[in-house]
Amino acid sequence: MSLVATTLTGVAASPGTVHARAVAWEPGVAVAVEPAADLDEASARVVADLEFRAAAATTGEGAEVLRALVMFAADPELLALARSLAAGGQAPEDAIRSAAASYAEQLRGLGGYLAERAPDVEDVGARLADCLAGRAPAELPRPGHPYVLVARDLAPADTALLDPRSVVGIVTEQGGPTSHTTILARALGIPAVVACPGARTVLDGHEVLLDGSRGEVHVAPNATLVAAVESREEEAATRRAQSRGPGATADGVGVKLLVNLGTVDQAVAAAAEDVEGVGLFRTEFLFLGRTDEPDPDEQVETYASVLEAFGDRRVVFRTLDAGSDKPVPFLGLADEENPALGVRGLRTAVTRGDVLQRQLEALAGAAARTGTDPWVMAPMVSTPAEAEHFAGLARAAGLRHVGVMVEVPSAALRARHVLRSVDFASIGTNDLAQYALAADRQLGDVAALLDPWQPALLDLVASTCSGASDRDLPVGVCGEAAADPHLAAVLVGLGVRSLSMAPRAVPGVRSLLAAIDLATCRDVAEAARSAVDAPSARAAVADVLG
Ligand code: PEP
Ligand code: MG
Repeated sequence: MSLVATTLTGVAASPGTVHARAVAWEPGVAVAVEPAADLDEASARVVADLEFRAAAATTGEGAEVLRALVMFAADPELLALARSLAAGGQAPEDAIRSAAASYAEQLRGLGGYLAERAPDVEDVGARLADCLAGRAPAELPRPGHPYVLVARDLAPADTALLDPRSVVGIVTEQGGPTSHTTILARALGIPAVVACPGARTVLDGHEVLLDGSRGEVHVAPNATLVAAVESREEEAATRRAQSRGPGATADGVGVKLLVNLGTVDQAVAAAAEDVEGVGLFRTEFLFLGRTDEPDPDEQVETYASVLEAFGDRRVVFRTLDAGSDKPVPFLGLADEENPALGVRGLRTAVTRGDVLQRQLEALAGAAARTGTDPWVMAPMVSTPAEAEHFAGLARAAGLRHVGVMVEVPSAALRARHVLRSVDFASIGTNDLAQYALAADRQLGDVAALLDPWQPALLDLVASTCSGASDRDLPVGVCGEAAADPHLAAVLVGLGVRSLSMAPRAVPGVRSLLAAIDLATCRDVAEAARSAVDAPSARAAVADVLG
């Protein structure tokens, strides 16, 4: 009996299309090995295995994920808790699982990035338990041909080892826009659809046409659909390969193509690429998880290294965005019921203005040391008074290009007033979507609401551009939305003139913009804003741009 063609829809997690057979994978089916004698031996074996995997990881991001797992597998507190549970009568295998579960629970309670590490600890607990029971974890399938991997979800250690020559696409029933699967799939350039209901109805051997840009999985697609999608992809690949230089539309309207970064290593790597600068340097990576503030010299050193790497190209630093999804313990922020709505971003400067002050001085120090002119902006600005306060501090520190992020709907709606004391605006579509749609960006269950194609989000971008146009201020976008070529065209049509994204996304955005003029960008912006919801906005623009 031939399979009936169906289309499943999930969250578009990593762009690109692929046509291949599916391999459905259930982790947990393990092979038998010699059991570890005790917890110490299990820990040593799991650490060695994860280190081996880290050395074999196909990306820097993958190796980082595995090194974090190594720390958990050797964590003295985790192992001590398991030993005390075992001393209380639990079987060693159960004791380590319970210890990992309680550790994961604590991390979930802390929220934000730390909560996202909870599955890592659970994965490590399962690996240690398997080792004690004489089971080796199941490896990813190797059917001998490229395939689309279909699973309920993927553990970080599995995703980190994916070989893009073998796994050419990923579909998961769970996961969300910030899950490891998503982050690593993007880093590896593997098209992926996550949070896809019905994913597990796709069985081994089913033919699948996966569209990671639109979040669609066509099962048993007909030949016409396959041919249309393949020829569209080939044309796009040729355009990408030929794209070079500064971003511009076909009729010469400049759109700066910048990158989002968070570390000096990333800056050094990205500076070697054909990009026009940094649109968002997330300085909190220097602060995250620390119990003491990085001293001014360390800060100057870091910022100067980024500026040196980019020379005379634009570099936009965002001041510390602490709180909510970005915990910074040394600030001593109070526990809150709703941290995303609480003291975060620029609001932390109300009680810890000294930290912001030292950071602005360090940025000015780095500028002086390198002879460059960095741009600086504040996160989570909601009112004109906040913008004015920040601009005053930054200018007093000697910084000359001062801006604000627009990621709260009030700032977008009242942009004319909020932007009156600054030089530029950068729209953070990740948070702007979270606040406009009242959907927690950490929660996979509401991922569809956070779709950057939501017409309500596009209305807020339009409102920001219109407020900025009164004073001719440049508006950029530095949220995930900027990395989607079709959506980039919409943003340009709305008035955005710089787009900041992961370095890998730049050629796709550049080549699409080079192929269309400003009038077309305005037409697609109008089509997207007239649509009733995100899928129809995406489809309406795809109809025009092909
Ligand atoms: C955003 O909110 O869109 C943004 C770019 O900042 P972050 O994702 O770091 O909050
Ligand atoms: Mg943000």
